[in-house]
Amino acid sequence: MNNSVSLEVLTRPPVQVPPHPQWPVLTEAELNAAKARIKQLLESRDAVLVAHYYTNPDLQELAEESGGCVADSLEMARFGTIQKAKTLVVCGVRFMGETAKILNPEKQVLMPDLNATCSLDEGCPAKEFTEFCDLHPDYTVVVYANTSAEVKARSDWVVTSGIALPIVKYLAQRGEKILWAPDKHLGRYVQKLTGVEMLLWQGSCVVHEEFKAVALERIRKLHPEAAVLVHPESPEAVIGQADVVGSTTALIKAVQNMENKSFIVATDGGIFHKMKQLAPDKLLIEAPTAGEGATCQSCAHCPWMGMNAVQNLEQVLRSGENEIIIDPEIREKAVIPIQRMLDFARTHQSDKSNPG
Ligand code: SF4
Repeated sequence: MNNSVSLEVLTRPPVQVPPHPQWPVLTEAELNAAKARIKQLLESRDAVLVAHYYTNPDLQELAEESGGCVADSLEMARFGTIQKAKTLVVCGVRFMGETAKILNPEKQVLMPDLNATCSLDEGCPAKEFTEFCDLHPDYTVVVYANTSAEVKARSDWVVTSGIALPIVKYLAQRGEKILWAPDKHLGRYVQKLTGVEMLLWQGSCVVHEEFKAVALERIRKLHPEAAVLVHPESPEAVIGQADVVGSTTALIKAVQNMENKSFIVATDGGIFHKMKQLAPDKLLIEAPTAGEGATCQSCAHCPWMGMNAVQNLEQVLRSGENEIIIDPEIREKAVIPIQRMLDFARTHQSDKSNPG
């Protein structure tokens, strides 16, 4: 029985999506020189780079070469907490920088561009969300990591796509009903697998929403041997065609560990860098985003992730600008559900379950 209740009443105007940033292309010599300067700046600032898989390959390489990390948002949060460095430089989107600051209030957290946000975060304003939660006091509030510090502060649990499913299963075993925000596709997917009663906020990711089910069927026929890997922020009809549904980390592991020689991948194209690094002999095919209704957003690259570049990373390391500041009262509340997730991850070995 499907117990999910969609909140059509909360359907909001579409989030304004910025154009994809056009960064000047650097020659190899310029890029190497910039990387060398950045490594020096990281050292002199006692700073460490924490980058997401969706950022550009130069930043991912820099993070790894300088002792930082490239990861999904769950691992980024974990990594920040075990660093001795005084400063965390988060290459990703704003909620990732905020999570780092919430978990590490004593550290300085910098970002290349504070305007790098996320359509899920933008589509779930704290005031409306709080009002909605107040109307449903008997529901456990579970929010995706892609939300503001204020929204997290109003929640009982924070989850990432890598741990959403085991946490909701755990809450279901305790007989709890879930108010879920903001991603409707991930919420529906989790609801379908758990059968829990869930109220779903109607947010979506502008990147994953563009994957097209009909075009995917066609491309599967052209590559019948390929495994289909889908991030659960994608529409239901796309998820329905997947061999593996999972977080970015789970999709990368699938490319490494499955015997298939080819894969059709439905998530942000930034992930291909790590996949190629770890499994150079595999053929990676981008899941189709074109087709009816295609827009300039249909390139499978997050425009906000694209705001991170070598150029503004260097600038921010020089100036110390773009620091994440969080109201201490909000921070005190927001850290509770985030810490709950990290404690759960530690004790339940969530990476071994279907990551959802
Ligand atoms: S890819 Fe989607 S979910 Fe991820 S930051 Fe961009 S808009 Fe948000």
